[in-house]
Amino acid sequence: MLMLELSKEDLEKLVKLQEIDSKIIKLELKLKELPEEIKRFEEIAQTRRNKIARIDERIEELSQRRKELERIINESYKKIEESKKKKAQAKNLEDYKEAIKLKAEAEKGIIKATKEIEQILKELNQLFREREKMESSVAEFEKKIARKEEEIQKTKKMLERKLRELGGLREQLVSEISPEVVEFYEEKKYEFGGNVFVPVYNKTCSGCSMQVPSAQYTKLLRGEGLVYCPNCGRILFIEDGNRG
Ligand SMILES: [Zn+2]
Repeated sequence: MLMLELSKEDLEKLVKLQEIDSKIIKLELKLKELPEEIKRFEEIAQTRRNKIARIDERIEELSQRRKELERIINESYKKIEESKKKKAQAKNLEDYKEAIKLKAEAEKGIIKATKEIEQILKELNQLFREREKMESSVAEFEKKIARKEEEIQKTKKMLERKLRELGGLREQLVSEISPEVVEFYEEKKYEFGGNVFVPVYNKTCSGCSMQVPSAQYTKLLRGEGLVYCPNCGRILFIEDGNRG
């Protein structure tokens, strides 16, 4: 453990520096999380767009089938016409029977195809309605995304402005502290992944919630040099107005 004697003034400045750093970390995190909110909307909009694409595929499939069925119906009507001629020109019973059979088959084909077209029209109707719903939902989400984007841009600018302010304050403060003290702080900050200086409340380290032993506590009250928490190793301090 690096032993460094910090003056009371140094300690106060480092606590301030630590406050600034923790604010900076929070703001940077917020800045990073901003686009996440839009991502969710975009995902929903994309799911709906995919659904529309699937609906369109099905509509195309059904439309093709409908054309095919209409072709079958047309051909069946032609066959009925043919069968009428055949019937009129029948030379024997065989020809006559043949003509009747042709007509019956064609009629059966027309009925079957017509029923299928009815089903297709029902499904198409449903698909168009669903498509319309999906489209208005996509439009709604696109509006939401645009609004959110605007909001995010504003928030981003505000956060960046705050970050610049804090950066300035930090620079000013660092310039008032000797480099080795700043270095000591930076190393400790890295070691603890954040707070190095932690206040003591009710004789308890607020870094790890362990009771501070009497000897250390007395040292703290007297302001005799650096007092480390024997449990977590952070540097303890007592906030003004919290003494006694
Ligand atoms: Zn501790």
